[in-house]
This record gives sequence, structure tokens and C-alpha cells, in this order.
Amino acid sequence: MGIEEKLPAGILLTTVEQLAGYMRKSSVWPATFGLACCAIEMMAVGTPDYDIARFGMERFSATPRQADLMIVAGRVSQKMAPVLRQVYDQMPEPKWVISMGVCASSGGMFNNYAIVQGVDHIVPVDVYLPGCPPRPEMLLNAIITLHEQIQNAPLGVNRVNAAHAAEAAGLAATPTHDMKGLLA
Ligand code: SF4
Repeated sequence: MGIEEKLPAGILLTTVEQLAGYMRKSSVWPATFGLACCAIEMMAVGTPDYDIARFGMERFSATPRQADLMIVAGRVSQKMAPVLRQVYDQMPEPKWVISMGVCASSGGMFNNYAIVQGVDHIVPVDVYLPGCPPRPEMLLNAIITLHEQIQNAPLGVNRVNAAHAAEAAGLAATPTHDMKGLLA
């Protein structure tokens, strides 16, 4: 990602991280991308009642090349999956994904061959938002959670170390098929 990859560790990098994080979180532009009923709730956050402009996000981009947030609002069909991935690939780095609603996160009640059983099979997800449909307030809460992640995102050597730590934690985690939840 350019010069930030060459920055040294230490106090200077920490200060640059905080500054870059603040500027990034204050200027996130979502892509105009709705898939199903959840998209109606997503559109509601642009109305004066919820006023997403407070977060510097009033501009939903009609082109992925001018967007850095994909809100996957609704179920993802098998036919739509490659299109979704293409839109994601066309977004510039750094970029983030919110999986909005139970359908996008896990297939929801559509446990069948036509629907992707979780959009994280197609793109990496930063925040999962539960509900069917999630209320606009819940989407705003997910956006605030994402802002905290962006604010505290490491850069340079710190980013490399964080990636290694995340990979080690992933390898040590309990596999999904071993999780029984309330059925245990
Ligand atoms: S989670 Fe509910 S509201 Fe959202 S796409 Fe699925 S069925 Fe529709």
C-alpha cells in the first residue's frame, strides 16, 4: 500500500496510524449495492431520520472504483456471487465489507443450493450484522463498530505482525463443524 509499508515501527508509526485511521474512518464511501429486502433498511440510513451524513458517508458511490465499503444487504444467489466478487475486486484498497442480515452472513432460512451459505465464502467480511431484517439503527451500530476497527488498524510492520497473529488465532480456533452451540 505504498509508503506506509516502508514506515518503521515505534512512536512515529503509532502517530501516523492514528492519523491515517481517523481520516479513513471519517471518509468511508459505501458502494451502491443492494441484493434483497435488507437493502430497503440500508437505504433508510440515508434518510433524515437516520442521517448517515453525520459519519461522512452520505455519498453512496454508483461505481465501485469510488467506493471503499461494500454493504452486502441481502441474500447472495449463486448467480450473483461472481458479480459481487467483481464489484469487490474493482474497489480500491483499503476496503471493508459489512455482511448485513442473517441471509448474507449464513444463508439464513434459505438453506438450499441456490443461495451462497455465507458471503464470507466470496469476500472477506469485517463486520457481521445479525437480524432479519436488521433495523437501520443496527446498521449504524455496525458502521460505528467498523469505524473503531479502521481507527485502530495497524500499518506497516505492525500490520504484518497483526496478520500473523490473526492467522495463528484462526488456526488455533475450534472448527465450525465442532461448534454445537445450544444443541451441545
Ligand atoms: S435477512 Fe431477512 S430481510 Fe434480509 S435479505 Fe434475508 S430475508 Fe430479507
